[in-house]
Amino acid sequence: MGFFYSALFSHVFHIQITPVFVLLNIVLSYLPDTDVPVELLQRGRLGGREHGSHRGLTHYPILYLVTTTILYFVLGSSWAVIFFVNIFTHFLLDSFGSGWGLKWFWPVSTDQYKLLANREDNSFAWNKLIARWKTQEFNEKALKYGDDNWFRNLYFKPTPTLAFELTAFLAGLLSLYAYILLT
Ligand SMILES: [Zn+2]
Repeated sequence: MGFFYSALFSHVFHIQITPVFVLLNIVLSYLPDTDVPVELLQRGRLGGREHGSHRGLTHYPILYLVTTTILYFVLGSSWAVIFFVNIFTHFLLDSFGSGWGLKWFWPVSTDQYKLLANREDNSFAWNKLIARWKTQEFNEKALKYGDDNWFRNLYFKPTPTLAFELTAFLAGLLSLYAYILLT
């Protein structure tokens, strides 16, 4: 998404497209995943049955609402929008597909929310708009249905997730390329 947003925001906010601006959008779109290397260092692995979701503090939306507000007052509305859209697209994508969604309403509620999933086993479901798990329940489900080899099973096999992410990556890259050619 970083590539696509670089082109979009450059156009909308009249910001010159530079490698730094593109890099900034890429960093922002992955910012919530800074908990990934931390967990890898601490546990030597990510997610899995006993741990369930790797999505900790850096995946709590409220922190970014606060940051967006600060950015708005310090740097103005363009940068607040760039920050907000990059981060919340990440959260929206994390609410689908692989994984167990997010604690969208932390600290008000520690429930885990996911879109289009079966509450019972976390499988994909077109007709279930929102699945919600309480912490205790979520830990039990993760133990039962979680996958210790989720990374390998998700990205080293032809899964819909892999196809989606590759397509999104290529589409983003192409949109940026086209934008640079046309402007
Ligand atoms: Zn994430």
